[in-house]
Amino acid sequence: MRFVCVDTFEQWRDESRQLLSLEVPPADVHWTSQPQQQSLFGHDSRAERSPKPVNVPSKFLSLAQQVACHRDSGRWELLYRVLWRLTHEQRNLLEIVSDDDVCRLSRMQKAVSRDVHKMKAFVRFRRVVDQAGKERFIAWHRPDHRIVRIAAPFFARRFKGMTWSILTPDESVMWDQQQLSYGDGVPASAAPNGDELEELWRTYYASIFNPARVKVAMMKSEMPVRHWPTLPEAQLIPELLGKAAGRVDQMIANSEGFEQTATHFLPDKIDLPSLRKSAETCKACDLHQCATQVVFGVGSTNAETVLVGEQPGDAEDIAGEPFVGPAGQLLREVLASVRIDPKQLYVTNVVKHFKFTEQATTTDGLRGKRRLHQKPDAREIYACRPWLEAELSVIRPRNIVCLGATAAQALLGRDFRITKQRGQVFQSDWSDRTIATWHPAAILRMPNEQRRREMVAQLTSDLTLATQSQ
Ligand code: URA
Ligand code: SF4
Repeated sequence: MRFVCVDTFEQWRDESRQLLSLEVPPADVHWTSQPQQQSLFGHDSRAERSPKPVNVPSKFLSLAQQVACHRDSGRWELLYRVLWRLTHEQRNLLEIVSDDDVCRLSRMQKAVSRDVHKMKAFVRFRRVVDQAGKERFIAWHRPDHRIVRIAAPFFARRFKGMTWSILTPDESVMWDQQQLSYGDGVPASAAPNGDELEELWRTYYASIFNPARVKVAMMKSEMPVRHWPTLPEAQLIPELLGKAAGRVDQMIANSEGFEQTATHFLPDKIDLPSLRKSAETCKACDLHQCATQVVFGVGSTNAETVLVGEQPGDAEDIAGEPFVGPAGQLLREVLASVRIDPKQLYVTNVVKHFKFTEQATTTDGLRGKRRLHQKPDAREIYACRPWLEAELSVIRPRNIVCLGATAAQALLGRDFRITKQRGQVFQSDWSDRTIATWHPAAILRMPNEQRRREMVAQLTSDLTLATQSQ
């Protein structure tokens, strides 16, 4: 009998490869997650080198990856038995749904995938600002299974522009806007809520992910102030603690290489009225400097469908509301023609301030200036993204319609091509029904009358498709 100790899918995969290449049948392996048993019985299959490559259906690998997250202690044994049977008995085993092993695997996979969905739906972040004025978002969640690692990439995509951590009893995960890292879990007995979560983060979990900061905290609590200047790291402290919040923000933005994003201006309470109010203070990119005012989304928290445009235009900048100019006029006509009630909609933009260049004009001898719309660049879109993410996380719409390429690329990925993929239903991080269509302003710019009519017809049918879900 071989005793094999594994804790993660990767370990199970490596061990199984070894065992398979040594032709060890499932009945001869005892799988465990307790490391001490391995040393008791002595055999460590990792000592054996270079296993033969194993050829298994790729479906099995993704299935195994999910099942590995199940809490059932029999999962490793079951996975190895199925792997053995796939390679020794029946390559199409997974298609035989009446098979006991296959049936059990599929039940476990479903449980894990339900748990991942639950985590996506229920995690709620709390905003914590540390002494240096830097913010992060913390959440506590207790999943049924060990799904942190398979769920984390979803949160990284969804909250790309925020620094966040999710604490669970098994392990904790942090996203620093560039990569995910993992640390210890919070024992279930210490399950925090509300303010305790913030406290727990400050006193302990910050240290897992940021040793430098903890040194500062430790020094501050344990060392008399007069000793601080003699320590190299400590030189930062008076600066960090002493400067006005605005200066510190600037310092952090410059010295730590973090680009400023709108997360810094998010309110503690995330609902539409608070978001709208806080957006008025946003200075996360330069666009607020020349625009008249911020143009936040409008509509109900209960909206079934969210329409996302690019950024306010000249008329919207003056009115303070999205889609009130010529593009909005066309949009309203199309919506009315298919009897879509604007009350079921929430309308917003990827970027919340108007970007323009000024052009001198002369009409009838009068000189003036015209503001010409400019496309927002990647940096502005990135900086502004948290507002859109917050709007969508509050509304949780059934349908999303991206008007034009900027919105489509922000929600469906940079490779999205509106000319090729408009009118199709996609799954995005925000809704299972995300559709991209022509931007009404792009239709208005189209010089060819025939083509313009075609595009209006497509915008009409795309909006109908998007809003007719049950
Ligand atoms: N174009 C947009 O993308 N949004 C508006 O609000 C107006 C025009
Ligand atoms: Fe903030 Fe967006 Fe305005 Fe930039 S465009 S200042 S990120 S609200």
